[in-house]
Amino acid sequence: MVYDVIIIGAGPAGLTAGIYAKRACLNALVLRDKYAVSSQICNTYEVCNYTGFNNISGQDLYDNFEKHAKEIGVEIVDEKALEITDIYLDVKKVKTKNAEYETKTIILASGGTPKKGGFEREDDFIGNGVSYCATCDGAFFKDKEVAVIGGGDVAVEDAIFLSRFAKKVYLLVRKNEMRATKALQEEILKATNVEIFYETVVKSIIGDDKFEGLLIKFKNDIILSELSVDGVFVGIGMNPDTSLLKDKVEMDGDYIKADETCETSVKGIFVAGDVRKKQLRQVITACADGANAITSVQKYLLEKTK
Ligand code: NDP
Repeated sequence: MVYDVIIIGAGPAGLTAGIYAKRACLNALVLRDKYAVSSQICNTYEVCNYTGFNNISGQDLYDNFEKHAKEIGVEIVDEKALEITDIYLDVKKVKTKNAEYETKTIILASGGTPKKGGFEREDDFIGNGVSYCATCDGAFFKDKEVAVIGGGDVAVEDAIFLSRFAKKVYLLVRKNEMRATKALQEEILKATNVEIFYETVVKSIIGDDKFEGLLIKFKNDIILSELSVDGVFVGIGMNPDTSLLKDKVEMDGDYIKADETCETSVKGIFVAGDVRKKQLRQVITACADGANAITSVQKYLLEKTK
């Protein structure tokens, strides 16, 4: 069987594409890498800017998306897409570990993975003091002292979340200002157990086998300072997971080049969500991409039949 569209990724962009595909009566398949789905939205403690929801956990919002997709019969298969081939042909192929699927179009909606902090000994302490997910690991730090690296929405949300049960939270921002939205900045400034260090970067971890703290550098200091904390959360952005199309479509830096139509430089290949070059990467814009990508898929398929 040849699908009309295979959607790679089942985050907000991929599931929205699945829902729009179903409503457009397209023969669609969503490939979900179970492990990737457990990142981004599911790891967001609170989403406060998705229209219609003043405050909902990322996991609950995701569950709603998934329920909606399943209720209308979107075909979701828990298989990781490993390779895309024949992208210039009318029938393209997507390989997984156990199958090879044929499709007329592909939407890559594979999201991204958290960036590493890049400080010394980071890898040695992953899961043992270094975390990239406050909602997953925060509970281990009840009544303890922790640091959060970053000044964007994720880091500030993480610091607010952790401040509710950690004894003390240090937010380490590398510039002299945060990048997070004003509402979050106002909220964190109200937290009495959060201390913000600006123009501060982490150099290394202190401790032999046990995580004991961080070596940090304040901008104007020549010597490094010790910050005694029980753990560090890295919240400095993500790397888009574009590997399936790397060197096959036009890129713009780390992202795949595509405008609001979500069309890439190769006919029949589309992108949606965080892998696409765009101004704002949020749940709502990921969903918008999913809808736009299916509209473009429909136009492409119609052209092919003329
Ligand atoms: P951002 O890219 O927005 O911010 C990254 C932050 O990390 C910046 O403060 C940046 O500093 C800092 N940083 C980057 N690299 C380093 C480094 N090596 N060392 C120290 N600091 C570093 O990423 P986020 O993950 O915060 O957010 C990603 C996207 O997700 C954004 O568009 C955000 O709005 C969105 N988001 C949306 C939510 C929602 O819809 N509710 C919730 C959370 C996030 P600098 O400013 O100096 O570059």
